[in-house]
Amino acid sequence: MAEKSFKYVILGGGVSAGYAAREFDKQGVKPGELAIISKEASLFYVYFNDEDLIAFENAVWFFIDKTSELGVVAPYERPALSKAYLFPEGTARLPGFHVCVGSGGERLLPEWYKEKGIELILSTEIVKADLAAKTLVSAAGEIFKYHILIIATGSAVIKLTDFGVQGADAKNIFYLREIDDADKLVEAIKGKKNGKAVIVGGGYIGLELSAALRINNLDVTMVYPEPWCMPRLFTAGIAAFYEGYYANKGVKIIKGTVAVGFNADSNGEVKEVKLKDGRVLEADIVVVGVGGRPLVTLFKGQVEEEKGGIKTDTFFKTSISDVYAVGDVATFPMKLYNDIRRVEHVDHARKSAEQAVKVGSFHAFVVSSSSNASELNLSRSISAIKSNEEGKTIDAYDYLPFFYSRSFDLSWQFYGDNVGDAVLFGDNDPASPKPKFGSYWIKDGKVVGAFLEGGSPDENKAIAKVARVQPPAVNLDLLTKEGLSFACKI
Ligand code: FAD
Repeated sequence: MAEKSFKYVILGGGVSAGYAAREFDKQGVKPGELAIISKEASLFYVYFNDEDLIAFENAVWFFIDKTSELGVVAPYERPALSKAYLFPEGTARLPGFHVCVGSGGERLLPEWYKEKGIELILSTEIVKADLAAKTLVSAAGEIFKYHILIIATGSAVIKLTDFGVQGADAKNIFYLREIDDADKLVEAIKGKKNGKAVIVGGGYIGLELSAALRINNLDVTMVYPEPWCMPRLFTAGIAAFYEGYYANKGVKIIKGTVAVGFNADSNGEVKEVKLKDGRVLEADIVVVGVGGRPLVTLFKGQVEEEKGGIKTDTFFKTSISDVYAVGDVATFPMKLYNDIRRVEHVDHARKSAEQAVKVGSFHAFVVSSSSNASELNLSRSISAIKSNEEGKTIDAYDYLPFFYSRSFDLSWQFYGDNVGDAVLFGDNDPASPKPKFGSYWIKDGKVVGAFLEGGSPDENKAIAKVARVQPPAVNLDLLTKEGLSFACKI
């Protein structure tokens, strides 16, 4: 079987892979040195019937090489999949949301990788990783050798079939992680016009998908076991606003129960969702958003793990030399809280990738380019010495947690830590024409987290600053009264 060798391999072709590639380019990577290996597909199958699809799949490399990069799924901004990708109007499609547009940067089209000599190895699932031998093996048996590896495999969705939920393998039960999943969901939405949709899960996927399906005029019911939506972040007060707003938009919400089974018709298409409390809901489409798990199984037993992810230092270096882990899979030191955490959010995927390349792998390699492993082990301190010589220091990753979501006309941002006491301020009436409200979290007399719905860019900056600076707040009543103006004067 073919064997390919690269100085740098990024395993995974998602958000962090794209931001890492841009940083590699900034640092001056040479053509042929870097490859991105991803299982995400390299074709648009939606234009073809089954026979054409098979023929097209076989011819895809020829097609792409001979004509254009049409259909190449280069790294893209994954959050678009649960938002504008599903809208009936103003729909987002590639190449519109390739990285790095999500952070206001230049869009890296497939041609960009070609120009830079960065190899995009797509439709290629790695099924075996041998970190000692520095080798990856694909499902098709191709062997990839690397000098430095960045693990950027992200997360996989948790499926109801994983728990043996009866009927959970019926057709039209969807999960959403990759563009392929989103394409299938879009087809189903078109095929089930004005039909009924049940959304299982009340997290951000559940909330964004309920909105997207409602905008597509489906009759939407959300089901989740918790007393309110987004319980990992929202307080009861915050959630009450979103639940009220969704209800006003016609989304039905059933709380305190779970889906325990599904009935399908003779075509195998889902027709009913059975709930634990005995209720049965009609459904033409079901979308399940019950969480994800980091994709680390390939590396089990080969690298240190912590909190379900791959343990890294502040430069995203793992316990194995020349192996880095970024994005969803990394459990890293959170300097601000003197803690170690794993974060499944796009902002961290972007920043961790840049950090790993900036101060980690690239310098490590440049400083001792043709060196052996022991020299490379020294590279961290060498790169620090080099930086010191130039009057620079390598900064530790100092991440401020940042989460956001958008649905209907709503848009919220959260910064910091949602621990301690919470206060709610502002206009949180779901019927308001322009609701604007927020929350602060206060721990040990300091404001450690801030949430804002409907903020302007400047107001969002202000709450980010509060979470970073952690100003004192002793009088919670006063803080509630001051509301957003408290953040704006920090
Ligand atoms: P990913 O972007 O998931 O990329 C992982 C890549 O690795 C994929 O291309 C995958 O195919 C590939 N891969 C995995 N295993 C293998 C293998 N064995 N062989 C080859 N390739 C492999 N975050 C927010 O902060 N705000 C949001 O609004 C938001 N919305 C989201 C909406 C959706 C639908 C999803 C799924 C996520 C959303 N997120 C959001 C989370 C955010 O997108 C992720 O945290 C981010 O994508 C993580 O980046 P990553 O590079 O670690 O992984």
